[in-house]
Amino acid sequence: MDAIILLGGPGAGKGTLADALRKQKGFFHVSTGDMLRAAVKSGSDVGLEVKSCMESGELVPDSVVLNIIKERVTRESSSAQFMFDGFPRTLEQAEGLHTFFSEIGGVITHVFNLDADREALICRLTARRTCKTCGAIYHIINMPSKVDGICDVDGGELYQRADDSEETILNRLEVYQKQTAPLIGYYRDLGLIRDIDAGGSAAETEALVLAVLNG
Ligand code: ADP
Repeated sequence: MDAIILLGGPGAGKGTLADALRKQKGFFHVSTGDMLRAAVKSGSDVGLEVKSCMESGELVPDSVVLNIIKERVTRESSSAQFMFDGFPRTLEQAEGLHTFFSEIGGVITHVFNLDADREALICRLTARRTCKTCGAIYHIINMPSKVDGICDVDGGELYQRADDSEETILNRLEVYQKQTAPLIGYYRDLGLIRDIDAGGSAAETEALVLAVLNG
């Protein structure tokens, strides 16, 4: 079993890229953010535990995240290629993934480091709208839906994520710098980092990543 990892700050374009790679290359998309939001929505025990962390932009505990990842990967183990989006986010999670993959014979082939400057990230997050039902992502200026407030894919209502408020965004950027950016060095030492300029359009980022995957 192979996996790629999409690493990048909030707003770097991980979710948008993941959707494109799923369609083009058939990766099985595993987004911890999506899974945790679904848990909050369902009101499960995990959801109740993580709700306040997510709303404030803090990370949820490593043990919770590692458990949901293990469960999802184990359930889908017939899928040849996983794409982790928003995971791992701490060194502890990276080490937990390493141990888990060693046990099941998994191999990480690429870690894409999606790099964009702070202003671009803030602009994308404040303009982001998400479909309530299918999770499709829009940008009110650069990537608007055809009909204002309505998803092109399934007609669902578009909303602004609770953690896409200006104050929470600044906290998420700080959390990223402190807790997640050290993973770039960790994976660089393992020879797995592929640096991608993610400051351009979604199509440009996608082309850069596909060139690596197809190369
Ligand atoms: P973004 O990358 O835009 O911040 P995500 O959907 O990946 O959005 O994550 C939203 C929130 O979910 C994070 O701010 C955090 O609270 C929680 N979260 C997602 N993935 C993880 C993870 N791997 N570890 C800890 N918390 C996570």
